[in-house]
Amino acid sequence: MRSLIVFFVSLFVSTNLFAQVHCGTDEKLAQLIEKYPELKQARQLIEQQAQDWIANGEKVSAVITIPVVVHVVYNTSTQNISNAQILSQLEVLNEDYRKLNANASNTPSEFQGLAADVEVEFCLASRDPNGNWTDGITRTETDVVNWNGSDLVKSTSDGGKDGWEPSKYLNIWVCNIGSGLLGYAYPPGVPSYLDGVVIGYKYFGKTGTLQPPYNKGRTTTHEIGHWLGLSHLWGNGLSNTNCNASDNVSDTPAQADPNYGCPSFPHESCNNGPNGDMFMNFLDYTNDACMTMFTTGQKQKMLAVLNSSRSGIKNSDVICATVGVAELDNNTFDIYPNPTNKQFTIELKELPHEPIFYTLVNSIGLVMARATLTEQVTQINIADYQAGVYFMTLETEQGQKAIKKLLITH
Ligand SMILES: [Zn+2]
Repeated sequence: MRSLIVFFVSLFVSTNLFAQVHCGTDEKLAQLIEKYPELKQARQLIEQQAQDWIANGEKVSAVITIPVVVHVVYNTSTQNISNAQILSQLEVLNEDYRKLNANASNTPSEFQGLAADVEVEFCLASRDPNGNWTDGITRTETDVVNWNGSDLVKSTSDGGKDGWEPSKYLNIWVCNIGSGLLGYAYPPGVPSYLDGVVIGYKYFGKTGTLQPPYNKGRTTTHEIGHWLGLSHLWGNGLSNTNCNASDNVSDTPAQADPNYGCPSFPHESCNNGPNGDMFMNFLDYTNDACMTMFTTGQKQKMLAVLNSSRSGIKNSDVICATVGVAELDNNTFDIYPNPTNKQFTIELKELPHEPIFYTLVNSIGLVMARATLTEQVTQINIADYQAGVYFMTLETEQGQKAIKKLLITH
């Protein structure tokens, strides 16, 4: 009987602990280093490069836009999340990484001065690796019921979906992740076929199929932080009860363990009083609603990575329809009326003597309409579109393009 009780108690404890490991990043990286021992030294070099950039690199204030592809790998229709759910995640990222999140004001005044606009934005890619148009979303039906935290979700031949060139795209796989995880990511330096972020479909975005209290898109904010080189506030591993470890960021307080739920301020550990743990930081484990900030030090670390080991992402030539330099004369065409509420007209200055394509995208890069213009004047119906800012791109076969902003009101 006694051994039976011990068995049940230990089962309860271990299950409970397992469920508390929200993020598989540290464990997955440790496993990968076992498989590829040379990765340990490669990671140390990458870390040193980042620290060198922080110390000496040229700091130019300019927003960096990261092209994203979302791979939805689903076994049930519920797991095949909607475009709206995906777009809601892009919105969260563009709020959290620009300090535009509505709950930024909940940051305790003692930490307000450390909260940073990271000056990084995200958009869905408009071109796939073959140069074809895409809405930046792939959908793959799979026989795999539960991925159990496996990287096989990143492999088409294993029932998942191969990633796109990770030096140009941020790959995000959304699936039934399993293993009690909300998500995991790999920092820079891992083999290309593994590079990217994996998120459970119940924790992705802020509208759709979501499980409170992880229903405000902060799992992805957290995991992309790892992808850009950030560590947990308590350092790598499950806890830091002896307070020896650090996240190698100077302005985050030392912290003993992950925080869960939403502690009341201040919550002290590691002699870090009077302000205590920065449990509202995106790199802790608190509830989505409780998270509010990155620090300036974390921003510097992420920018350092984008200027060294992930410079390919910073310099990516992947087109996100919301960004890009107009190469065609913007007087090539006119769109009117603008603002509009039911329809609008594209008028070319002259009859096209080569194929000209138009693409209408919304403010975060989702393609709404695309076609070839054959007439000098073309009318487009937008009565079904939501109000907001849109971008109309005209492009020649050679890739020359011009972009105009269109405001839709209702
Ligand atoms: Zn994490």
